[in-house]
Amino acid sequence: MAGRPSDAEVIEEVEAHARRRGVAGGPTGPGAEAPVWQVLLDFRIVRSIETRGERAMREPGSRDDIAKRPTYTAIGSHPVPAPTDPEEAGARLLVREGSLTEEQCADCHGGTNKCEACRGRGTRDCVRFVDCPLCEGGPDACWECEGTGRSRSRRPPHLRAGASAADRAARVRCARCRVPDVACPKCRGRRQLDCPACHKSGQVECAACSGGKRVTHQECRGTGRFTVWTEGWIHHNPHRARERRLGRLDLRRPTGNLGRWHETVLRRTTDKLPADLDESDEALLTPLLTPRKNEVARRATLRLLPLAHVRVHADPHRDYFAFPTHTGIKVITRPTTERFRHFAAIATASALLVALVAVLAVTSLR
Ligand SMILES: [Zn+2]
Ligand SMILES: [Zn+2]
Ligand SMILES: [Zn+2]
Ligand SMILES: [Zn+2]
Ligand SMILES: [Zn+2]
Repeated sequence: MAGRPSDAEVIEEVEAHARRRGVAGGPTGPGAEAPVWQVLLDFRIVRSIETRGERAMREPGSRDDIAKRPTYTAIGSHPVPAPTDPEEAGARLLVREGSLTEEQCADCHGGTNKCEACRGRGTRDCVRFVDCPLCEGGPDACWECEGTGRSRSRRPPHLRAGASAADRAARVRCARCRVPDVACPKCRGRRQLDCPACHKSGQVECAACSGGKRVTHQECRGTGRFTVWTEGWIHHNPHRARERRLGRLDLRRPTGNLGRWHETVLRRTTDKLPADLDESDEALLTPLLTPRKNEVARRATLRLLPLAHVRVHADPHRDYFAFPTHTGIKVITRPTTERFRHFAAIATASALLVALVAVLAVTSLR
């Protein structure tokens, strides 16, 4: 494939790298084997999928803005440009030619209706008097006449049973029986007070209409009319798919940053994958490129990075990887996977041992 250095160039670079690492080897040098090539692959595709439809609209009031929208005659065939960037989601709202009209609200008169709460009076009935909150409108209103004006008890008022000294001291002259120091200080023996809400008038302003007798019709928002039209909508939404083969986990960071990925961008459904792509990769990616229903735009990006795996005789516990970069061939080394697993196993075993020792220590303390 394009941009792949020759095996001889790779071997030379790997051996130079090994020497810098202090791997001398025999008289013929570190002894790099023939490179085994693999290709890292990072493919993504974003398609713009278009959906269309229409719906009946009815909104309160006069909607001047609706008349400014573009019109259509048949939503299915109405031409709209595909989005230049398939990543962009977008919605178009259109008005079917000749469908826009206004109608009167059938459930009100000019946006208002008679207030139901007060039946259009603007006021509501109210009690003129309320019970005194202090004596609760009961016989305690006056110890002499119980609020009737006719003396009943014939007892010396200050000896009223159960009354505290403070209670007795607060008593006032009764407005009904005129006896001093016996009546409730709040109502003065009358049991009731003038209603604070209506000031004894028996009428209060209706809270529902604030006295206005009519209320706003909510459905038409007080406008008395509706704007009616048929709306057509065309949506564009991005749909994404991805396929990646990024090699060993411990390789990803340096190759991702440093490697000279070979990039191909396909924008039309007729655009072809690179001719030098491996057959297996072509088989992997071809289904992802099949045009989808209602696809109107796409951008597929294929990035490839050839990577050579080289074993070095004089350094058997490390894998050497070489890949092209913008400045030449980059070589990195990693512990061999066997070696890697070996150390991972040791680490796991150590961790288990530590845990076991801890458990034993705890058990022996108990
Ligand atoms: Zn209405
Ligand atoms: Zn009294
Ligand atoms: Zn009272
Ligand atoms: Zn009242
Ligand atoms: Zn009212």
